[in-house]
Amino acid sequence: QQNGAGAQEMPEWKKIASGRGELGKRTNLSIREQREQLPAFKMRKQFLEAVKQYQLLIVVGDTGSGKTTQLTQYLAEAGFANEGMIGCTQPRRVAAMSVAARVSDEVGCRLGEEVGYTIRFEDKTSENTKIKYMTDGIMQREILLDPELSKYSVIMLDEAHERTIATDVLFGLLKKTLKRRPDMKVIVTSATLDAEKFSAYFNECPILSIPGRTFPVEVMYSREPESDYLDSALTTVMQIHLTEPPGDILLFLTGKEEIDTSCEILYERMKALGPAVPELVILPIYGALPSEIASRIFEPAASGSRKVVIATNIAETSITIDGIYFVIDPGFVKQTAYDAKLGMDRLQVTPISQAQAKQRAGRAGRTGPGKCFRLYTENAFQSEMLPTTIPEIQRQNLSNTILMLKAMGINDLLGFDFMDPPPTNTMLTALEELYALSALDDEGLLTRLGRRMADMPMEPTLAKSLIASVDLGCADEMLSIVAMISAVQSVFHRPKDKQQQADQKRARFNDPAGDHLTLLNVYNGWRGAGRVDAWCFEYFIQPRNMRRAEDVRKQLVQILERHKLRIISCGRDTLRVRQALCAGFFRNSARKDPQEGYKTLVEGTPVYMHPASALFGKAAEHVVYHSLVETTREYMHNVTAIEPKWLVEAAPTFFKVAGKGGELSRRKKAERIQPLHNRFAGEDEWRLSAQRRQG
Ligand code: ADP
Ligand code: MG
Repeated sequence: QQNGAGAQEMPEWKKIASGRGELGKRTNLSIREQREQLPAFKMRKQFLEAVKQYQLLIVVGDTGSGKTTQLTQYLAEAGFANEGMIGCTQPRRVAAMSVAARVSDEVGCRLGEEVGYTIRFEDKTSENTKIKYMTDGIMQREILLDPELSKYSVIMLDEAHERTIATDVLFGLLKKTLKRRPDMKVIVTSATLDAEKFSAYFNECPILSIPGRTFPVEVMYSREPESDYLDSALTTVMQIHLTEPPGDILLFLTGKEEIDTSCEILYERMKALGPAVPELVILPIYGALPSEIASRIFEPAASGSRKVVIATNIAETSITIDGIYFVIDPGFVKQTAYDAKLGMDRLQVTPISQAQAKQRAGRAGRTGPGKCFRLYTENAFQSEMLPTTIPEIQRQNLSNTILMLKAMGINDLLGFDFMDPPPTNTMLTALEELYALSALDDEGLLTRLGRRMADMPMEPTLAKSLIASVDLGCADEMLSIVAMISAVQSVFHRPKDKQQQADQKRARFNDPAGDHLTLLNVYNGWRGAGRVDAWCFEYFIQPRNMRRAEDVRKQLVQILERHKLRIISCGRDTLRVRQALCAGFFRNSARKDPQEGYKTLVEGTPVYMHPASALFGKAAEHVVYHSLVETTREYMHNVTAIEPKWLVEAAPTFFKVAGKGGELSRRKKAERIQPLHNRFAGEDEWRLSAQRRQG
């Protein structure tokens, strides 16, 4: 093997990198000590030998043992980055950014030089990059453009236990790539004990275990089911802070809003207790948080004070924070699951699995013996929680994934080598959806439009709207809208003490046709004012998010130009923009219900106008929406008023102009989809009988 063999322990790129300045050298020393104390270090030699010997390797080790930050460096140090890059995938964006930052520190280079990261719409790598962290979604895009992955010498599929759709699909794709690239290496890492299953799937490849270094964790359950887990979680935080010995706290909550509210409440409660109580440093961490704030969670709390990190599931395995002695686990997670009644994925707060609960508890035992407070009963743990989490691929919408596989020329989806195949029905729904979007033809083959959609880094619905806007002559406007939707969760700033003022300012942008055009008004306002922050502050808009949207817009412009798609403005004729939205979002259509709220056109499910919508309290009869957010009800988010006939024009195979305008004809749908269904159902049977014959 040319890779690695006889390579120097300290490659050139690293020597140069660590030679930068005295300060760098001094911190490197202590960093070196830190590195050598990690459990992975003891396995360094064995690891490198195994990689040299085998093409595929599975590495298991507790969270925090150094898999993500160390293995890539060992490989680079041993010369594996001389011929190509070392790529490491992460299921989460924040994790990719944060570990890349940490590793560039350890290596002693600037982030984006020898060590960098790529996430959607943000590429922090250069031609010097040797170790590249990226989301699994990015790797999926790269493999679509270059199935040989010729830029890489090693791919590490990290956090494989998370079983995201992208990682699962990469499993199958990389197996193929490996056959064509005998010189390439693939390492699959997992924090849990499903390694046997991985090994069985990856041709019985060897498993390397990093011995753990964990302390016992005492697990405590609630005696009664909690009626309000948030309140009881915050009470527990305060109790620990006031009665337990030193040690930081990690609290798992489900999302940004919950976390932000909790931080505020805790802050108020601490303030009320006055200066006699030791300080409590309150730190939030979730996916949408800017990276500068996120890195604060790693800083140790000053002596005499205690740190409480309030995190989403991201702290379960992707990110390790040292010094945690107390874990509070309310037992919930927010995850997307396909909702057949709504015909789309929906974010839902659901109970975690037993495996997740164990993983969470384990976070308290990394520095010393810890405690885990489970805010549910032992009975609930035993009888209500699933033993393991269902992989995403078996519970989410697959249209994005199938579009990508089709674009790679993989047409036999049932024959694809999935570790856990998605249910046939889920695949059919996705095929049907892509067919209705005209991304697939009657035969289920990719159309030219479908190929283009696959090249757009966004969900197929949004991609379709963007491409449709080219023909409708409003791509200039749609680009701004797509950028505003894709780049950030929201550009509006609504501080607690100035909500009314913020809402008034926001109302000025409201467009009578709805939220998409409202976003366009904001974007145009910002651009017209010279993109200055002062304008943002006046209108309660977040300048950082506007700049990010602008950056995304530029990248989208490049993609359209590459496809030679013309970017024209429709000026005031924004009706075209709404038509273009229908081209992608016709399924997400709803009609006003005479009683209250709206009913979706496809399934007649009740949905409601979000109070923050520009259309809230308005009389829009027919609407399309971008997504649904569930709180107490299903709220439509980003809503635009439309004419029902646009739906029929946008998706003639899906809607039929019958007596009742714009309503879906089930018969028609069945007629069109049935052939696809039969084809696949047939294949399935064929496979089953083949298996029976073999067995
Ligand atoms: P694993 O991937 O096995 O879970 P990691 O490589 O992520 O382990 O973590 C190894 C060590 O590096 C942990 O002790 C963790 O606290 C530390 N670490 C990781 N990221 C950072 C960071 N951004 N700042 C400081 N320490 C970090
Ligand atoms: Mg890791």
